Amino acid sequence: MIDIITELKSQFDSATVLTDDQDMAKYITDWPGTMTGRALAVVRPTNTTDVAAVMKLAFETATPVVPQSGNTSVAGGSVPDDSGTAIVLSLERMNKIRDVSPSAMTMTVEAGCVLETLHQTVEAQDLFFPLNFGAKGSCMIGGNLATNAGGQNVVRYGNTRELCLGIEAVMPDGRIVNLLSGLRKDNTGYDLRDLFIGSEGTLGIITVATMKLFHLPKARATTFAVVPDISRGLELLNRAQAETGGAVEAFELIPRVFLEMVQKYGPQHTIPFKEIPELCVLIEIAATSDAESIASEGGATPVSEKLEKILEAGFEDGSVLDAVIASSEAQRREMWDMREGALEIVTAAGARIGFDISLPLDQVHAFVDEMTRQSEAILPGLRMCHMGHLGDGNLHYSIYPPEGQADEMMAKADEIKAAVYAAIGDFGGSFSAEHGIGTSKLYAMTNYKDPVALAVMLQIKATLDPKGIMNPGKLLPQ
Ligand SMILES: Cc1cc2nc3c(=O)[nH]c(=O)nc-3n(C[C@H](O)[C@H](O)[C@H](O)COP(=O)(O)OP(=O)(O)OC[C@H]3O[C@@H](n4cnc5c(N)ncnc54)[C@H](O)[C@@H]3O)c2cc1C
Repeated sequence: MIDIITELKSQFDSATVLTDDQDMAKYITDWPGTMTGRALAVVRPTNTTDVAAVMKLAFETATPVVPQSGNTSVAGGSVPDDSGTAIVLSLERMNKIRDVSPSAMTMTVEAGCVLETLHQTVEAQDLFFPLNFGAKGSCMIGGNLATNAGGQNVVRYGNTRELCLGIEAVMPDGRIVNLLSGLRKDNTGYDLRDLFIGSEGTLGIITVATMKLFHLPKARATTFAVVPDISRGLELLNRAQAETGGAVEAFELIPRVFLEMVQKYGPQHTIPFKEIPELCVLIEIAATSDAESIASEGGATPVSEKLEKILEAGFEDGSVLDAVIASSEAQRREMWDMREGALEIVTAAGARIGFDISLPLDQVHAFVDEMTRQSEAILPGLRMCHMGHLGDGNLHYSIYPPEGQADEMMAKADEIKAAVYAAIGDFGGSFSAEHGIGTSKLYAMTNYKDPVALAVMLQIKATLDPKGIMNPGKLLPQ
């Protein structure tokens, strides 16, 4: 019988195959630090041929494989379980940018390219890759594709899926599928690219991708605006979309509960209001043309004047109560640093039950009201933090205990989750918006996903991964 570790060590050098506990430590614990598994080895190939060779061995020996890119998953998807039977296949050394084409507005990059490195590389050529969120300094494009990541610019550019033109992937048995195309139209049967995107490492390994690029905004206008409630916030979004011809780059919902946490757990951040407001939105609009981005003698760019007009109309009709416009790039950066640091802050705030959900835009307000009502009945004083990417209906919804009642809240965690999941169904939403299912949402996937859709997914999984070696125990119930 083949021993996979002996075989891996005979085919690859010691920088590629790690088996020492210390060397493997960072690959087997997830970002929040709550899940630590065990692995037979961590394998770090540098090219697709080697990924294919590793997968052939894994297939022959029926060894489970956990694909990993930046290991920033917050759903438990990127680390092995504690059986110690799996290998972690890290893409971190496949980090070449193969091509940036300003004329085709595409880049072809290996799976282990760090998102922020991609931003910097293309921005140096006046191009823009709009996928952006707090983990950008660590997460990698392979992981972004495997989770169909979202982030703050989805309202304008879509999720990672919408940004991808083609991928190369290695199948569980080691075959290489070349779907690496910069084509914007390609109707040649089932879209296997889309099958891999969002599959969380359960169908194969994404090794290379061709991604869309955009014109780098020449000017941006950013504001924190206080709104009376979520519905009025949406009115403001729709006005901004109409006035800018759809140039709203980001539209983020920030409630009082979060700003209070910022004061306590993120004192390095600056809250732009003297008194903490009940609810605000962080809005950014952008311009790529000279006509909209060259500042007048007064110093204002047309795009920032446009934002001022949108806010003025909001003041007049009551959809805006107060607003601070970033007056410099440094102030804009401060606003975004606070938003991008949100996950660290909500995590630092202690015991919480967190959700990553999406709702039809016109149902977000009603959902939040309904959950506030229901949670008060479950445990009086529960605090809701409905942060989120409001522009695309995605809430990072966290529930915190009343002061000193963490144990009481956790004892009711199942009841709270059941209430949230039921309400999501009632309001036509999804229990998983952008972080993926991993292991943390398996319960919801098993119980709340349409049963026929789930059965079809299991059929696809069984066909493409007949030995069940790809990231077992993640995304789909076993
Ligand atoms: C501070 C912070 C903020 C975040 N904000 C957001 C946000 O706003 N929006 C958002 O969508 N996510 C967010 N996330 C979650 C996370 O960063 C994303 O899910 C990200 O896309 C994961 O990329 P990664 O490279 O770290 O993947 P990993 O964590 O390594 O892997 C994620 C999943 O993809 C699989 N996988 C990884 N690489 C491959 C590959 N090459 N082929 C096949 N499968 C693979 C893994 O097995 C795992 O199931 C945030 C995380 C943090 C820590």
